[in-house]
Formats: sequence, structure tokens, C-alpha cells
Amino acid sequence: MVSVDKEKCIGCGLCNSVCGDVFDMKDGKAHVKKGKEKAKDKCIKEAADSCPVGAIKP
Ligand code: SF4
Repeated sequence: MVSVDKEKCIGCGLCNSVCGDVFDMKDGKAHVKKGKEKAKDKCIKEAADSCPVGAIKP
């Protein structure tokens, strides 16, 4: 399951830039789009690796 730790997220928007199909921004935090929790897009790992605070679990 793809997830974003909202406690850790600093709202930089990088995951949304790298993988906009899966990650959206809302109220200054990233979240996984509805129905995308089990997505296997390659960019998910890329987003997880790019996240400066390690908030994304691919
Ligand atoms: S890359 Fe990480 S810190 Fe930046 S918005 Fe996404 S989850 Fe938050």
C-alpha cells in the first residue's frame, strides 16, 4: 500500500511533480489519490526516493 506520513510531510510538492498520477497536494500536505493506494507506477518509488523527509512508503 502506498502511503504518505502526514506528520513527516513538509509539503514540498516534489512527489506531486514526480508522480502526479498518484500524489496530490491538499492543505499543504501530500496525499495518495483515491483508488491509487495499490498503484504500481514506477514513479512511486522515484517519489519515495526523492522525498526529503522520507514520508512516502511505496
Ligand atoms: S515529497 Fe515528501 S515532503 Fe514533499 S510533499 Fe511529497 S510527501 Fe511531502
